[in-house]
Amino acid sequence: MAYFDYANGCPVDERVIEAMLPYMTDEIGNPSSVHSMGLKARKALDEARDRVSDLINGKEGDIIFTSGATEANNLAIIGYSMRNKRKGDHIIVSSIEHMSVINSCKFLQKNGFEVSYIPVDRNGVVRIEELENSIRKETILITVQHANGEIGTIQPIEEIGKIAKEYDIAFHVDATASLGKIEVDVERMGADLVTLSSNDIYGPRGVGGLFIRKGVRIQPIIVGGGQEKGYRSGTENVAGIVGFGEAAEITEEEYREEAKREEKLRDEMIERILDGIEESYLNGHPELRLPNNVNVRFSFVEGESLVLSLDMEGIYVSTASACTSKTLEPSHVLIACGLKHEEAHGSLLFTLGRGNKEEDVDRLMEALPRVVERLRMMSPLYKKKS
Ligand code: PMP
Repeated sequence: MAYFDYANGCPVDERVIEAMLPYMTDEIGNPSSVHSMGLKARKALDEARDRVSDLINGKEGDIIFTSGATEANNLAIIGYSMRNKRKGDHIIVSSIEHMSVINSCKFLQKNGFEVSYIPVDRNGVVRIEELENSIRKETILITVQHANGEIGTIQPIEEIGKIAKEYDIAFHVDATASLGKIEVDVERMGADLVTLSSNDIYGPRGVGGLFIRKGVRIQPIIVGGGQEKGYRSGTENVAGIVGFGEAAEITEEEYREEAKREEKLRDEMIERILDGIEESYLNGHPELRLPNNVNVRFSFVEGESLVLSLDMEGIYVSTASACTSKTLEPSHVLIACGLKHEEAHGSLLFTLGRGNKEEDVDRLMEALPRVVERLRMMSPLYKKKS
């Protein structure tokens, strides 16, 4: 098989599993228990927190562990806005955010907030001038992702961070897609709140975190026993958090080399697809791009049919982020980049990871041109043209 869907499902590193296992068998203490087993669990949590913090240069703040990036985005956006409502009721967000960000903003709109959605250019880069022009005296939060998981475009995040600082507005960055692929440094970004996810760095699923800068106040959105300093109640997922910590440590040591390797494969894939298949075009930015992301649109074919045809050949790809592909709507990210509906529907997302080798690209290139051609032959539009 050839697996090109790492952004939607990533294996857990064997070393991570090993680190987690004791916390599912022997070390079962609850971090809130005062006995020595509880204390051991608490220490394990603290160590994981330090490891995740080190990966993002987070010493000027704290990490709050959550059930994943979706919850961290909700906590950052809803939690910050609710807590700071008396300062203002306006939020600025890019139009190509993950649905957990977009829908957090929509939730706030239903609850009395105003939201400005900032357009992007054809390559998916946020239009900074429009972002700056949309700032009002009521603006309390700017939220922009570091990189887009679907089209791979990396945003000018430091520049946006500087604008936020200049106007004294809190800045939230969703770093889910960029963590472990490119440098995530909360200081350089100028970010106050940063969303992180474990599975994207070969840690377990169902674990994530939110970096909260010292002095930034947010309101919890999950209330209960007051765990995670009151920001996120519920008995901690100790094994999962330990796994996230281990994955962070491994990532810090290994990601630079791996990113270089994947970048080479990425460039080769892009070149071979665009050269080998007529009327295929790259989506996203040609240079400011995640090292593991290839997103290509093919005229006269449906992405879904391509996914299913490739599946039969043991090749696994996606049309978009798994979270959006459940709906029949075209990807809001591609539409925001100015693609027509049929162009968005004809797009394929390939995401690379540690397991990919040159042979996978060969396998893909043996199947893809043939599959595209077969599907095109069935398209009345394609026939008319040729
Ligand atoms: N933000 C971004 C940029 C993503 O790509 C994703 C999906 N991996 C999420 C948030 C949500 O992650 P999860 O489904 O793990 O909560």
